[in-house]
Amino acid sequence: MIEKYRGIVPDAALDELYALSRILRTRSLLHVNSTRTGGGVAEILAGIVPWTESLGIPTRWEVISGTPGFFEVTKSMHNALQGADIEISHSDLQVYLQNLQDNARRMQLNADVVVIHDPQPAYLIDYCPVNPKSLVWRCHIDLSHPSAHVWRFLRQAVSRYAMVVFHVPQFAQADLPVPQVLIAPSIDPLADKNRHLDEEEITAVTDRFGIDRSRPILVQISRFDRFKDPLGVIKAYKQVRQNFDCQLVLAGGSATDDPEGPRVRAEVEQAAAGDPDIFVLSSPTDIEVNALQRAATVILQKSVREGFGLTVTEAMWKGKPVIGGAVGGITSQIVHGVTGFLVHSPDGAAFRLRYLLSHPRATRQMGEKGREHVRHNYLITRHVRDYLLLMLNILEGRSGRPILLPRKNGTVILGEKPHESVSGP
Ligand code: UDP
Repeated sequence: MIEKYRGIVPDAALDELYALSRILRTRSLLHVNSTRTGGGVAEILAGIVPWTESLGIPTRWEVISGTPGFFEVTKSMHNALQGADIEISHSDLQVYLQNLQDNARRMQLNADVVVIHDPQPAYLIDYCPVNPKSLVWRCHIDLSHPSAHVWRFLRQAVSRYAMVVFHVPQFAQADLPVPQVLIAPSIDPLADKNRHLDEEEITAVTDRFGIDRSRPILVQISRFDRFKDPLGVIKAYKQVRQNFDCQLVLAGGSATDDPEGPRVRAEVEQAAAGDPDIFVLSSPTDIEVNALQRAATVILQKSVREGFGLTVTEAMWKGKPVIGGAVGGITSQIVHGVTGFLVHSPDGAAFRLRYLLSHPRATRQMGEKGREHVRHNYLITRHVRDYLLLMLNILEGRSGRPILLPRKNGTVILGEKPHESVSGP
């Protein structure tokens, strides 16, 4: 499996993985999250788990289950941690804790290194028999402006983990007494969502949905979630539509841990009603997502909060300029004015869309730079390497020899390498 990537990533990257895996072989790794499909975490785990497994590291992926009430509470926690003004009651927290206790009873939570993803399963630390020194909490959400009340609750669990992983420095928390490290997500260039597609395969998908490839196509792929601001995208499109004969595609599926999707989707359909050039598509397959991104003229990810925004990475890999909300992980990916634009409002998005739709050469050049930016920074081999280094740190840390690289602000970057980037025009 690994050898298929030779030629796509530098030989040295693969050699490094083989060297690290020789040290770690037979050490086991367990991931725990709250959904097997839908959203960036499931996407990342589906890519990473087979990689570490094929490098000889026994790897498991467990998913917590829960009642609808549990997922309503965890979605409220998620929203509050991303800055929404929501209070969570004491009885809601009891529902949350009880569900995790029930999960812990049926799950096999033992491994040499256990990575718990996101707030939903964070309190498993109270119920699992694993040594806390093997436990890592990885946060995939935008913690730049958390509700103080909900963060205080979550912090009581998180501060007992051996290590905490964030996507970008602005999510690091000053009041955490444990090492905080940065690992950026990644995409798999050979997965159906990202592999090369022939023109016929792309057109087969656009034809199926009635999308016209002879006119500009604006695309946002996202779960129907208010933080992704689909209504803001429609607003920007409507402004641009006055001068440009373009189409808008909003494609989104659902995640089993997100009960809000149908409600937000209904709002989007209402805002799109009556315009035959807006396509609201449900649960696209990976190949359909890939084809829609490749058919796009410009890709948007106009989030108002964003943990990372894998859709931005995917879009840049397809050689498309991206207009993204200037928040969270999107700011670390889009090089403003080089691979796309960071915007703060629907008006800002409309302004940048008008520019890109009237400058095809700049649009193409930005797309090409975006693809190189992903090649250097966000492919799965770099991510697997970071996971192997994380494992080494946890295992070595347990024997009192941490191998982290401290930085001025208290965060550390695992196995830091010079961050190769693209330069301006
Ligand atoms: N995605 C998908 N189908 C959809 C919507 C999203 O396959 O209908 C994928 C998308 O391609 C990306 C992931 O789900 O790989 C979303 O990750 P991101 O980090 O952008 O956002 P999250 O959903 O985790 O907030």
